Amino acid sequence: MERNDIQVVDLSASELAFSEKMAEKFPKCSFKDCFSCKTCVSSCPVTLVDSRFNPLTIIRMVLYGLKDELFKSDFMWLCSSCYACQERCPKGVRITELMIEIKNMAVQEGHAPAGIRAQADLIENNGRIYPLDDFDNKKRAKIDLPELPTTCEAVKKLLKED
Ligand code: SF4
Ligand code: SF4
Repeated sequence: MERNDIQVVDLSASELAFSEKMAEKFPKCSFKDCFSCKTCVSSCPVTLVDSRFNPLTIIRMVLYGLKDELFKSDFMWLCSSCYACQERCPKGVRITELMIEIKNMAVQEGHAPAGIRAQADLIENNGRIYPLDDFDNKKRAKIDLPELPTTCEAVKKLLKED
């Protein structure tokens, strides 16, 4: 909720156990060391083009235990895992790794957006994000490129071994 230029944070749904769990996963260079310098914000290419996304906001949401709001948000998925924030943070906060951890937890709790779920299904079933078919191989043959297998068995095998 916004009141003029002040952002009001509703802590009624705060789950501090979530914040503590995340702190345990990152015992060194934790989000708790953040002193709000905003170097991560000014380094983030996504924040530059979409004001909904802001790494510091996500760090604060983790700190305040706003798990449900974070997991159900659409902006969290905009992070491209480019590591610019993490590499520049003067406190060494492992921001990108924190984002990846949050996304993995959100998926495990059934909050992945449809596009992410579709990509996961494609990898599981084909071993690739972009499945090849006979049509692709016909196009390749026309320009003298060798035929490629339509599935990637090595990736499928790896996923089954997990
Ligand atoms: S760069 Fe690091 S210390 Fe600065 S606001 Fe971002 S996380 Fe916090
Ligand atoms: S890793 Fe994510 S949050 Fe960090 S700079 Fe890149 S896009 Fe932004």
